[in-house]
Amino acid sequence: MSASSEDNASRTTGEPDLNDRAMRDRAVLAARGKAPFDVLLSGGLVADVVTGELREADVGLVGAMIASVHPRGARSDAGRVLALAGAVIAPGLIDTHLHIESSMITPRSYAGVVVPQGTTTICWDPHELGNVSGLDGVRWAVEAARGLPLRILIEAPSCVPSAPGLERCGADFRADAMAEMLSWPEIIGVAEVMDMRGVLERSPRMSGIVQAGLESGKLVCGHARGLEGPALQGFVAGGIESDHELTDRHDILSKLRAGMAIELRVSHEPVLPEAVAAFREIGRVPQTVTLCTDDIFPDDLVKQGGMVHLLRRLVHYGMDGLEALRCATLNAAQRIGRRDLGLVAPGRRADLVVFDNLETFGVRQVFVSGIHAASDGDLHIAMRPDTAAPPGGTMRLTSVSASQFLIPASGTRAMIRTVSKPRFTQWGTREVAVRDGHVVIPADAALMAVFNRYGASAEPGLGVIEGWGEWTGAIATTVLHDSHNLAVYGRDPDDMALAANTLIASGGGMVVTRGGRILAELPLPVCGLLSTDDPQDVARQFVAVREAAASVSTWDGVPVMIKLIIGASLACNAGPHVTDLGITDGMTGEIVTDCVLAS
Ligand code: FE
Ligand code: FE
Ligand code: FE
Repeated sequence: MSASSEDNASRTTGEPDLNDRAMRDRAVLAARGKAPFDVLLSGGLVADVVTGELREADVGLVGAMIASVHPRGARSDAGRVLALAGAVIAPGLIDTHLHIESSMITPRSYAGVVVPQGTTTICWDPHELGNVSGLDGVRWAVEAARGLPLRILIEAPSCVPSAPGLERCGADFRADAMAEMLSWPEIIGVAEVMDMRGVLERSPRMSGIVQAGLESGKLVCGHARGLEGPALQGFVAGGIESDHELTDRHDILSKLRAGMAIELRVSHEPVLPEAVAAFREIGRVPQTVTLCTDDIFPDDLVKQGGMVHLLRRLVHYGMDGLEALRCATLNAAQRIGRRDLGLVAPGRRADLVVFDNLETFGVRQVFVSGIHAASDGDLHIAMRPDTAAPPGGTMRLTSVSASQFLIPASGTRAMIRTVSKPRFTQWGTREVAVRDGHVVIPADAALMAVFNRYGASAEPGLGVIEGWGEWTGAIATTVLHDSHNLAVYGRDPDDMALAANTLIASGGGMVVTRGGRILAELPLPVCGLLSTDDPQDVARQFVAVREAAASVSTWDGVPVMIKLIIGASLACNAGPHVTDLGITDGMTGEIVTDCVLAS
């Protein structure tokens, strides 16, 4: 990255400018012993992610930068001395890909949670906000990310909608929208390109979006689930540089060999031991390995943590702590083109984390651009209030009636097409009873209804889903990847209408109803995706919804139920998925608007 683009970054994120000449003058004097440091971290071990050493050294800070890393005890002249008693001084953690929306809190709240965990830089793809509110949503993300103690770099959502033609979301991004976002200085590149077929088959839509990224000179990030052989080579040849959809050691090595930067993610734990095995096989951890969190639910973020939890898990699976740390710091900084980050060395930005050690990664202190931001889990600097108003009008539904949860049919029996499994869905057929002109949903099945919430239609897409146990209540959600329409699940039309209307009144969120009562609710008034409440409260409300959701079905897969509930409309995937248009299939492109075959 050039000096001027670093300077640009400083201006856009509100972080102090490292090219400040007076600060450099003072840093040189302090490093040479001719002036005191502002802050001196003494008695610690520096985690040197270049040499792989954990060495005794003190670190002197001047303004926003590190001025000197020198022998322990060599200096004591500083405005403030922090005695570390053998703790480890590491670079601040960099998360190379995530969606804040998955944690259901605002960027400001997110910063308040992860900075005390040692994360100082994140690359945020506001893909869900983009799908709901289009460019206004991304613009709000940029504004809401500014001036926080967490450095939030924004990736431009590439797949809005993620299944064009199979669903309707709140916007439609083509090459011109991508080029516009890339022209904003806050945008660091094109976010995960998920439409692999579009890239490989050179669809005008996807090629145009990727081309805008290539011409911008910024990052072009990817999502390369299951790609191998010629398809993998073609995807990378198309300009896509990274992947986080890794499955096993073979997949990890083939992506590394194809020159992709990989983003190991905490939200898919089975891949972590595979990664450790892959690195063992080649005898090194490549410099193109970075770490990310991608999607973390609010309770997990608050309780287990984000990046720091990932470091702990990697060490648990046998990775060396310093190697894991290098992935989360220097490798990440190189990937995103930030020469000021990722290393404890003079001249670099003073983003630092003091850990107890590199096994348990207990976080003691966090510095961001030289400012002591957190100690022992608590943020102790004031954050500016949220100023930018989020986009409104994202719930353009008036109210729904119980009769909209009925599938019309004639006679007394009918054959219907169904979605036969919760995971890796398949098409099914089923003979059902017909009563009073409507299909009787079988006891072991449920209805999934998806209402377009952007004003395209008042009538929902309907599908019968099997394999989710027996339902005694209803669940509604506006968190519904990736269209974030309003989905309602259940068997009882009154409970379903109550759930839907509760969310229409609140502007969106998640709710569980039974017997005419609301069992649990998580209001998400910002675009039907985020809460403005305190993260601890959001975590509590989310747990309440998760538990209530588990109680309205007898399904034994309840631990992952909420994840499947919000993912059941992912029309870009193969197999049947109910969207606002009906039952769609991402593999064949089929759309079934009426599931009744014959009656
Ligand atoms: Fe992805
Ligand atoms: Fe992602
Ligand atoms: Fe999504």
